[in-house]
Order: sequence, then C-alpha cells, then structure tokens
Amino acid sequence: MSMKIALVGIGKIAIDQHIPAINSSREWELAATVSRHGGIEDIENFADIQTMLDARPDIECVSLCLPPVPRFDYAVAALKAGRHVILEKPPGATVSECRTLEAMALDGGVTIYATWHSREAAQVDLARDWLRDKKLNSLRIIWKEDVRRWHPGQKWIWEAGGLGVFDPGINAFSILTKILPVPVHVTSAELRFPENCETPIAADIAFAHPSGAPVTAEFDFLEEGTQTWSMIIDTSGGELLLEEGGAKLTINGVEQADSTALAETEDGSNPLLGGEYTRLYARMANLVKAAQSEMDLSPFMHVSDCFLLGKRVTVAPFHE
Ligand code: NAP
Repeated sequence: MSMKIALVGIGKIAIDQHIPAINSSREWELAATVSRHGGIEDIENFADIQTMLDARPDIECVSLCLPPVPRFDYAVAALKAGRHVILEKPPGATVSECRTLEAMALDGGVTIYATWHSREAAQVDLARDWLRDKKLNSLRIIWKEDVRRWHPGQKWIWEAGGLGVFDPGINAFSILTKILPVPVHVTSAELRFPENCETPIAADIAFAHPSGAPVTAEFDFLEEGTQTWSMIIDTSGGELLLEEGGAKLTINGVEQADSTALAETEDGSNPLLGGEYTRLYARMANLVKAAQSEMDLSPFMHVSDCFLLGKRVTVAPFHE
C-alpha cells in the first residue's frame, strides 16, 4: 500500500523532480501540497503547514522543497505532528538546527532523511567502488555553472543562508564525501562575494587528505557556454574522471557503461537530475519501513567550514 505524502514549497525543484518522482512511485501518493501561491491542479492545497497537518492526519510524510532558511519551522511543525520528514539539500540553514531536527525525529519515533540528490547520480556508486582500494595522488573538483540559466529569479540564493555558489557546490561535496574512502577536511578557502550580495559567487577551496594528496575545489556561478560539474581524480590505478554531476564516468580513458537509466525530464529542465529523485523517494520508503533516519551532515559541514575559515574577497556586483 502506498504512503500519503505532502509536498511543501511548489517551486522549481518540486515541479521538475519531486512531483514526477512521487507520481512514478508505487510507494507514494501525492495527497496534498502546502503552497502560498496555490499548489498544483487536482491536488488539495493548503496555504500553511499547520492547517494541512491538522486537517490531514492521514498524511504520514512531509517533503520540504522550500529554500533552506525558512525550512526549519516547517520541519519542526511536521515532526511535532508525528510525521516523517524529507529535507531537500542543504538540509537546513545551520548545522545545529539540523541536529535539533534529528533529535526531534528520534524522540518522536519518526523518520527524517537529509537527501543528497547528487549522491544518487548514475555513476557515483561505481566511482566509489573503484576508488576503494586505490591510493589517491590528487583530486580536483571543478563545479562551474551559469546561475542565470539554472536559478533565474531565485533571490534567496543571494541572501544570507542561501549559500550562493555553494548551493550547487554542496552537490560536489555530497559526492566527495560518498566516494572517498577516508574523510578530508577544509584547510583554506577563498570566497568571492559580489559587493551587492550576502553569499559568494565563486570559491576556491583546499582540503587536507590523510595521505597529503592535494584535494581542491573550484566553484564558479558565472560560467557561460559549456557547464562543468566534474571531478578529476588521479590514483595509483590511473585516472578517474567523473563528469556531468556524477552521470558520466571515464576510467583510464574508457567511458564506463551507465549502470542506471538516466530519465530525462520532458520539458528540458536539468536532465542530470532525472533518476536521482526516484532513488531518493525509494530510499525514504525503505527508511520509513525500517524505522530509521539518515542525517549525514558531512557535505554541509564542509560548506560551514568554508564559511568559517574562508577569506572573503569582494568582487563586482551581480545583476541578473
Ligand atoms: P524556488 O523555486 O526558488 O523555491 C521553491 C519554493 O519554496 C517556492 O516556489 C515557494 O513555494 C517556497 N518558498 C520560497 N521562499 C519561501 C519562504 N521564504 N517561505 C516559505 N516558502 C518559500 O527554489 P528551488 O530551486 O525549488 O529550490 C528549493 C530547494 O531545492 C533548495 O534548497 C535548493 O538547493 C534545492 N534544489 C534545487 C534544485 C534546482 O535545480 N533548482 C536542484 C536540487 C535541489 P510556494 O510559492 O509554493 O509557497
């Protein structure tokens, strides 16, 4: 039998990915939305979450697709009402508030899942498996995209807590923390803030790896033309190249067969995300059945460390 779910914050990612993923799943039924602007056709909509929670005790799970800063209050309301909660990435605005939510879920005996959609990209597991017994020589992350193309009109990205270029950059960190057999930590960062924005538009980051191998990341939100979401990893077994946000894997010059079908979205919105959300909802169904939670905050802690340790440089203003 399927579980009833409510989707909160009907914006870009809810429409592009969450709704198709839920609708294609036998385990979930989209039973309601919470949206300030009206939701979607044929699904009961509520203007605020408390009204939905009071009116629909049959809804077991709440999926929060709104930006990170307002998300905490919604998650608290859902957890207090005894519902399971799915968090979009990043799981919150601060590490501590995420810990609070995790503790609330544990106390309440419900599931909370901090999702990392890029970890579900088609070739990430294969990359992790191949790297398991290799010695790392170097790892370079290049995550460069055009904010005007992928985030039009999203003012929240430029406001404190919106993460700026770390909104896509955290996807790279989520892959990094999945595929490396040992943890790394940030040792330096340079964050470039447009003079009219509260969040950075570009960043260079260095990590320490236990072997001393250089591990670096370059993030840029002003990349026009070819978009790059890549990791170049040199190892004792040769070079691993993970491209297209984890969808394409080349090892020693040989492109590896795609182990999962990459479902493209019909309207041409980000095709890289296709199968990722289907897998996130399947994982959530399994977590609920097993009465478990998953709150891996390691990608978010790297972002937090970049902001703690990073040198701030002011650059030209950004205008959309
Ligand atoms: P968005 O379209 O700008 O906003 C999503 C929705 O959240 C809005 O349509 C609005 O829904 C609600 N919302 C916005 N500000 C709010 C506020 N202050 N209080 C309450 N609700 C608010 O953003 P998005 O691109 O979907 O991103 C949402 C989250 O998904 C972010 O954490 C982002 O990192 C993540 N994500 C985005 C993408 C992507 O490609 N865009 C990919 C993966 C993950 P209503 O009008 O219905 O209330």
